[in-house]
Amino acid sequence: APHLKIEDLHVSVDGKPILQGVNLEIKGGEVHAIMGPNGTGKSTLASVLMGHPKYVVEKGRITLDGQDVLEMSVDERARAGLFLAMQYPAEIAGVTNADFLRSAINARRGEGNEISLIKFIRQLEEKMKLLDMDPAFAHRYVNEGFSGGEKKRNEILQMMMLEPRVAILDEIDSGLDIDALKIVAKGVNAMRAPERAFLIITHYQRLLNYITPDHVHVMMQGRIVKSGGPELAERLEAEGYDALKAELGIED
Ligand code: ADP
Ligand code: MG
Ligand code: MG
Repeated sequence: APHLKIEDLHVSVDGKPILQGVNLEIKGGEVHAIMGPNGTGKSTLASVLMGHPKYVVEKGRITLDGQDVLEMSVDERARAGLFLAMQYPAEIAGVTNADFLRSAINARRGEGNEISLIKFIRQLEEKMKLLDMDPAFAHRYVNEGFSGGEKKRNEILQMMMLEPRVAILDEIDSGLDIDALKIVAKGVNAMRAPERAFLIITHYQRLLNYITPDHVHVMMQGRIVKSGGPELAERLEAEGYDALKAELGIED
């Protein structure tokens, strides 16, 4: 089972400090939610975990099963089982969803261990059905002309096909109506397993009505300022972030 550990992580972008000492430990079978106001560094954390080159780690460590993640290339991280569903998924012109997924799966599995075409198609059909996706999406170019909600659903499809060990979902709920939200949650819940961990980043508590987290963390100003159970998310929904800020003595 995966064991992801983030220790005293400090990250800057264009010389501007964003993350200022993040500590977080995530183990197999666990679902962690990170909540927080806009601009506090949630997406920055997700990007750093995946190795986006724009973000500079000034201090701290990230390990997966004791291995130094910060030393790994983006491809190595994917092979190690890290996956990010992005807040703003990119379009990939000229590459169909099916081709993209098959390449990604085979890159993860490694040479000589490629998935058979029949097995791939069977899995793709099964997962698309579970996500209530039109089969035509398999043959469309990745995210090209997809609506916001379709892109999010497509991110979950990628997650389900790639079967990551650590799945990071960055605001997967933004722009989803309630029916799409339930379908996305169904996909995530179907993937919950002792050998898999989730880090779910969200601004709103709403998603957590459908995906019950084991741990909830609140990020403000580049730090995790409070951790608790699902009740913490409910409290934020009821009282807002400002009440917590006041309680913790955090100033804007
Ligand atoms: P969140 O996901 O919590 O809304 P982000 O991680 O996206 O927050 O952003 C955190 C802070 O980093 C914000 O102040 C944002 O403006 C800044 N930031 C993010 N990306 C860049 C960038 N490429 N250049 C400069 N500042 C950035
Ligand atoms: Mg944001
Ligand atoms: Mg964000």
